[in-house]
Amino acid sequence: MKLLRIIAIALTIIIAIIFIKFKPAYAVSLNGEELGYVGDEEKFKEEINENVLKSEETNVAFVELENVDYSISLVSRNQINEEIVLAKLEDSAKNVYRVYEVADLNNEEDKVYVNSMEEAESLVTSLKEQYSAIEPNLVINTIYLENVDEVNEENIKIAKEKMQENLQTKLEEKEEKDSRTVNGIYLACVPVTGRITSRFGANESIRDHTHKGIDIGAAGGTPILATADGTVTYAGWNSGGYGNLVIIDHGNGVTTYYGHCSRIYTSKGATVKAGDKIAAVGSTGNSTGNHLHFEIRLNGKQVNPQTYVYK
Ligand SMILES: [Zn+2]
Repeated sequence: MKLLRIIAIALTIIIAIIFIKFKPAYAVSLNGEELGYVGDEEKFKEEINENVLKSEETNVAFVELENVDYSISLVSRNQINEEIVLAKLEDSAKNVYRVYEVADLNNEEDKVYVNSMEEAESLVTSLKEQYSAIEPNLVINTIYLENVDEVNEENIKIAKEKMQENLQTKLEEKEEKDSRTVNGIYLACVPVTGRITSRFGANESIRDHTHKGIDIGAAGGTPILATADGTVTYAGWNSGGYGNLVIIDHGNGVTTYYGHCSRIYTSKGATVKAGDKIAAVGSTGNSTGNHLHFEIRLNGKQVNPQTYVYK
């Protein structure tokens, strides 16, 4: 019995020593790498929430921390170092920022990052208003970034100006195109480059009525191009004064006339594209020198070609 008591006392002392010197703790590891030991897993998780996963910085959407694992172990009390573990976790935590992207779906390279939804919305509203004629396809996307150094005032200003410039270019292109459009038909090409020798509406001794087209002086044989896509409805001699004449029907009641040609390269019924060579400059019919007589008609009535081309 005495021996048993001695053993019991010895065990108690050993256990007491173990509990004085050692303590159950949690080994904390980040992505498999051990950082140190903490006493209480739940308490330590609260510490992480309070000190690591919260940020006072503006625009921080959340703080990203990779996998933290806990495993129970018995360590000497002086090995528990919560503050050091916490500091290591703080070091490896990453802020993820939320910014707003204004993007033009018609021009994928055009993007502006701004810091708030309000700023994005006001940019979209003002650009849509300013460039309503070209209906810019602007959208706002929420973007998460680990680094927002580039989203600064200077870069925002540059990106806004670039987007505005691109929209302005498109607006001008549209206005230019609109100004060359007759009843929905875009007159893409100038038929002949040359000097205008007689304007629309001119009264000249060569004819007994005002001029119904314009005359463009050019060397004999100079190619004459179709001003727009269409179908040739006439290609041949005209005894009414046009000489060799090509008429193209462009649809929507729009036709164009090309007179006094020396040669004709197309034929009735042919489909032509804007820029196709259809004839050559000549001086056939009622003409005193090499030139193209060019007419645009809307529903049969001549309109001034210089309103649309040769401006
Ligand atoms: Zn003429």
